[in-house]
Amino acid sequence: MKEQLARTLMTPASGRRLRASVALDYPFTPPQTDGSVVEIADGLLWARMPMPMALDHINVYLLRGETGWTLVDTGLNTADCRARWESIAAEHLQGLPIEALICTHFHYDHAGLAPWITERFGVPLFMTLGEFMTMKVLNAPMPDPVPPEQIAFYQRAGLPELRLTKMFEALAADPFTPPPMPAFQRLRGGQVLRIGNREWTIIIGEGHSPEHACLYCEAEGILIAGDQLLPRISSNVLVSSIEPEGNPLQQWFDSLDRLEVCRADTLILPSHQNVYRGLHLRTQELREHHLQQFAQLLGALEQQAEFSAFEAMNLLFKKLRHPMDDMLALGETLAHLAWLLKEGRLQRRLAEDGLWRYSREPGALIEKGMHW
Ligand SMILES: [Zn+2]
Repeated sequence: MKEQLARTLMTPASGRRLRASVALDYPFTPPQTDGSVVEIADGLLWARMPMPMALDHINVYLLRGETGWTLVDTGLNTADCRARWESIAAEHLQGLPIEALICTHFHYDHAGLAPWITERFGVPLFMTLGEFMTMKVLNAPMPDPVPPEQIAFYQRAGLPELRLTKMFEALAADPFTPPPMPAFQRLRGGQVLRIGNREWTIIIGEGHSPEHACLYCEAEGILIAGDQLLPRISSNVLVSSIEPEGNPLQQWFDSLDRLEVCRADTLILPSHQNVYRGLHLRTQELREHHLQQFAQLLGALEQQAEFSAFEAMNLLFKKLRHPMDDMLALGETLAHLAWLLKEGRLQRRLAEDGLWRYSREPGALIEKGMHW
């Protein structure tokens, strides 16, 4: 994997040529967010739930089994999404009941309606242990006062006090936090689920969330990819105060490697934007996106001796609109800095003002023969 990264970095032009001559293929017109569905294949439906955000929808999928339907992901915990599920259940399930719910990961656009769906339709929730437990912890109300370790994490990153306060206020007032989910059935990586005529193998992704389940049907070349392989945006990969020394970008890159074992002609069913083909092009684009961020950070450290994570964030993210964006953008910046630290490309020191300051590791680039 590291060799692959190094090669790509040294030949960025080849990536650009690839993009110019090969594009992702979008074979379907997407459904509206009005409860209509698109049939991707026999017994495999695609619907869309509305989201009142810049990213205005999430895709959900329905898999027909012998005696009923399995849903994959839920949409937000809103009246709009509940109404869409009611109309889908009434109009599009060919007289069969809903039998099960699978949530790819704990984020509340994917699992926010799990408590309601499991109760309304009397079905079990299937999730990985990592996702279910993270959901249990993070859906609890924000502790008041905020624990000092959590505040110190953002202070050391250099987030100004006022923005820190606003960020915690926004988190505490988040309107989409779902009620607690009492129980689940466990999914594991490598497990095979037989649903109707198809066998789906669970492939685990990490980095965006702790144990994200993707469902891969090798026989037909179909991958329900969740947030692991979005076609036009890159998923947030962040370091948080829960695991301040984590290296989630390495886990993200490792996950891209795992997904690349899927057939080249795999039809990818992502959680946002449109169904597409072009798996290997997309994994390469996603890697290159992060490599560009690495290069940008290291390039800035040629102009200035050191920076804080907050200063680095302002280099990478020019427009942040909402206080919650600070958490995502700062966490993602920290993820890039953590990867560079672990690779020996950066060093950091805890400065007198209590902030981590990052600088280039002298000599590391020459030793490794890298061209950043
Ligand atoms: Zn997500």
